[in-house]
Amino acid sequence: MRYSQTLIPTIKEVPADAEIISHQLMLRAGLMRKLASGTYIYLPAGQRMLNKVIQIVRKEMNRAGAQEITMPVIQPLELWQKTGRDIDYGETLGTFIDRHGRGNVLSPTAEEGFTFLASNEINSYKQLPMNLYQINTKYRDEFRPRFGVLRSREFIMKDAYSFHADEECLHKTYMQMYDAYCRIFERCGLEYVIVLAESGEMGGSGSHQFTVPCDNGEDVIVYTEDDKQAWNLEKAPADALPKQPAVEAAPAKNVHTPNTGKIEEVCAFLKLKPCQLIKTLIYRNGDDVMLALVRGDHEANPEKLTRLMDGARLDMAEEADIVKLTGAAVGFAGPVGLCDKVSKVFIDHGVAAMAVGATGANKTDYHTLNVVPGRDFPLEGENIQIADIRNAVEGDTYDGKKLLFKRGIEVGQVFKLGDKYSKKLGANFLDADGKQKSCLMGCYGIGINRIIASAIENGHDEHGMILPITIAPWEVIVTPAGKEEDVMAAAETIYRQLQTAGVEVLIDDRDARGGVKFKDADLLGIPIRVTVGKKTLAEGLVEFKLRTESDRSTLPLNTAAQKVAETVKDMKAKLNQPKA
Ligand code: ATP
Ligand code: MG
Repeated sequence: MRYSQTLIPTIKEVPADAEIISHQLMLRAGLMRKLASGTYIYLPAGQRMLNKVIQIVRKEMNRAGAQEITMPVIQPLELWQKTGRDIDYGETLGTFIDRHGRGNVLSPTAEEGFTFLASNEINSYKQLPMNLYQINTKYRDEFRPRFGVLRSREFIMKDAYSFHADEECLHKTYMQMYDAYCRIFERCGLEYVIVLAESGEMGGSGSHQFTVPCDNGEDVIVYTEDDKQAWNLEKAPADALPKQPAVEAAPAKNVHTPNTGKIEEVCAFLKLKPCQLIKTLIYRNGDDVMLALVRGDHEANPEKLTRLMDGARLDMAEEADIVKLTGAAVGFAGPVGLCDKVSKVFIDHGVAAMAVGATGANKTDYHTLNVVPGRDFPLEGENIQIADIRNAVEGDTYDGKKLLFKRGIEVGQVFKLGDKYSKKLGANFLDADGKQKSCLMGCYGIGINRIIASAIENGHDEHGMILPITIAPWEVIVTPAGKEEDVMAAAETIYRQLQTAGVEVLIDDRDARGGVKFKDADLLGIPIRVTVGKKTLAEGLVEFKLRTESDRSTLPLNTAAQKVAETVKDMKAKLNQPKA
C-alpha cells in the first residue's frame, strides 16, 4: 500500500483524554478515532490489525474443530427472560423496543442464541460433540467505558459454544479450546498467564482466564511465589488464619462514635487498627437477607459468596432494607443481636479467629467494643457458616507458599457451563441409552480488540508501538529518504519485489522529510524498515532496521527484497510455531 493514498492520521501530541499508553498510541498512530464514549472507528491501519488477529483466531478455531456461524447481534428479549439473564446482566444489557412493541437485546454474549439453535438442531447423541463459534460485534453498556478499546461499549468477540453428551466429552473439547487459546496468544506475540477463574454464577465446574500481565490491567492475578499456580482475585484462596489466643474480655459495651460510618473514621476515633474491626455487609437474594462478616482490613469477595449460595444471585441490600433490619443508618451494622434475624450469616475465617473486636452497634453513631466471636454472636448454628469469603491479600499463603499479586488484562476466558442454559432453553438430545438428556455445554470467549491493546501495552517505547510481526498493520515499510529520481525508483523496485514475494509492505511515498517518515514508521510499530537514501544507494546499498533494535545494517540493493522477505518469514515462523 502507498502511504500517500492511505488514511493514517498520526498525531504528535498525546491526546488529553487517553489515560493509558495503548489508548494514546492507538490514537496517535492513527489506528482509530473515537465516535462516542466507548465506541471507536477503526481506520485502515487499525482495521488491518483487527483483520490479522481475527484471521489467527479463525484459523485456530477451525483447527480445533469449531465451526464458524454468524448469530444476529439483535436477539429477542424473550430468550433472555427464559434464562433470567435479562435481570442478571442489569443495566449493562442494551435493549430496545422495535416498532411492533417487541423487546430486543443487543447481544453482550450469545449463550442464549447458540443454545436456542442447539435446541432446534441437535436431536441425537450422534450429532455430539458440536462446537460452534462466531466472530461478531458485542454490545455492553459498561458503567465506565475507559482505556480505549480495553473497556469499550462495542467490541468484537470471538465466542464459541460447545455441546456434549457427557462430562468427559466436555472436558476434552474444553482442553482443545484451552490449547487453541494458547496457540492464538502465542501467535499474536502476547505474554500471558493462565489463571484459574471462578465459574460462579455461570454454574459450571471450571474456568480459566487468559490474562496479559500489565500495570494498567483491571484484573488482579494472584500467584504462588514458585509461579506454579495462579488464580484471578475472585478465585484465589485466602488463608483461614490461626485462632488468636483467647483474652479476658470485659462485657461488650456500646460507645458513642459520632460521624464514623467508614472504617478509617472508626479506627481513628476508637484508636484501633482495621484488623481489630468486624465489618458487617448485608446482602439480599429475593426476600432473603444475608450477613457477611469480614475483618476491617479485608474485602468481602462476592464471587466466593455466590459460590456458597450455589450460584444464586446476591445483591447488596438497599439502604431502606438495611435501616429496617438494623434500626440504624448505613455504616453501623454489627452481628451482635442480628444473626437470628437473617436467613444466613457467612463468617470469614479471619473473623472467627479473632479473640475480640469492635463492630457496628446497630444503632446510629454507636459501635460495640469487646465483642468476642462465639460469646457475643454465634459461630455455630443452622444459619451460620464459617468460610473463606474474602479476597486474598499480601501475607496470605497457599500450600505453604507466599501469594504474590500483579495486575493484568483479561483477553480470553473458557468455561464449563454444564446444563444451566440447555435445561432452561430445552437443548436436549436422545442418548444412546434411549433417554432424553440435556446437553452439557462449554463456552469460550476472546476479546479481539483487547488483544491489540494488550500487545501495545506490552510492546512500546517512547517513539511508539513495537508490534509482533503477526499482528502489525504492515510487516515492512519501505522509506525513500529523499526525493531524487534514483532513490524513488529503487524504493519502488523493492516495494514491488516485496509485494511479489507476498510481504505486507507499505511504501512511504509522501512528499515529506526522512525524519518525519521515520517518526511515523516508529509510531506505527512496523517491525522492519528498509530505507533508501542517496548516500547508501550510491554504494549499491539500502539500509535495514528492525523496530526492536537501535542498530541499522545495510543490504545490497539487488538482493535486499529477497533477504527482507526471508527475515519476515523467519520472524513469523518463530511466533507461529507453538511452544512445546
Ligand atoms: P470483564 O471482566 O473485563 O468485564 P468479562 O469477563 O465480562 O470481562 P467475558 O464475558 O468473559 O468478559 O467476555 C469474553 C472476552 O471479551 C473477555 O475476555 C474480554 O477479552 C472481552 N471483553 C469483555 N468486555 C469487554 C469490553 N467492555 N471491551 C472490550 N473487550 C471486552
Ligand atoms: Mg471473562
